Amino acid sequence: MTQVTKSFQNFISLLYPDLCPACGNTLLKNELFLCTPCLFEMPRLRNHEDKDNEVSRLFWGRVYIHNATAYFYYTKKSRYQKLIHKLKYQGYKNIGLEMGKMLGKELLQSPSYKDLDAVVPVPMHPKKEKIRGYNQSEVIAQGVCESMGIELYGKCLERVEMHDSQTKKNRTERWEGIKSDYRITDKYEIKGKHVLLVDDVITTGATIEACASQLLLRESKVSVAALGVTGI
Ligand SMILES: [Zn+2]
Repeated sequence: MTQVTKSFQNFISLLYPDLCPACGNTLLKNELFLCTPCLFEMPRLRNHEDKDNEVSRLFWGRVYIHNATAYFYYTKKSRYQKLIHKLKYQGYKNIGLEMGKMLGKELLQSPSYKDLDAVVPVPMHPKKEKIRGYNQSEVIAQGVCESMGIELYGKCLERVEMHDSQTKKNRTERWEGIKSDYRITDKYEIKGKHVLLVDDVITTGATIEACASQLLLRESKVSVAALGVTGI
């Protein structure tokens, strides 16, 4: 970067300082994308080394997941909900990338995720992705891949249907709907591979269950990682 561009950038950052996307405070020079209090006060789960943790238990009796974890506990109306909201609806793509990197760094420390071959994001319906400009789960997955040095299997799964509303259906009807929404593509050979399925926030686990069921059809080993988890 030339001296002129650098000075210009410094000038711009004086006018428009970088803000913490969680609390809105101005970021200090050494703060990367979250301010220090928001980073340290994040309700972390730190359960990636525990095979039978509360995220894994969500899938017991539903689908075989090798390991499952989430980075933080997601609560409504918290500043961390703001983070996810900005990532999903306000075009803050870098939140996904940076948090994905943080998640990847954490997984690197755990022996359970050492033999991963690839990262598969939960897909978004192409129409929705076109409107949003990106699939937030894929951006998170990119960050994870960057930290872990493994490959991204971008369109390994595809979302085929979009329902108007799931709210009026009962649990079984909702599950029948979700199950048929995801399909495996022939883009990658995943047989015998250990793949990490990545999502933004796990709520009921139904999306992960549907996606993992598809991956298991190809005899792969499936683990799961999300930024947030709620309701556990
Ligand atoms: Zn903050």
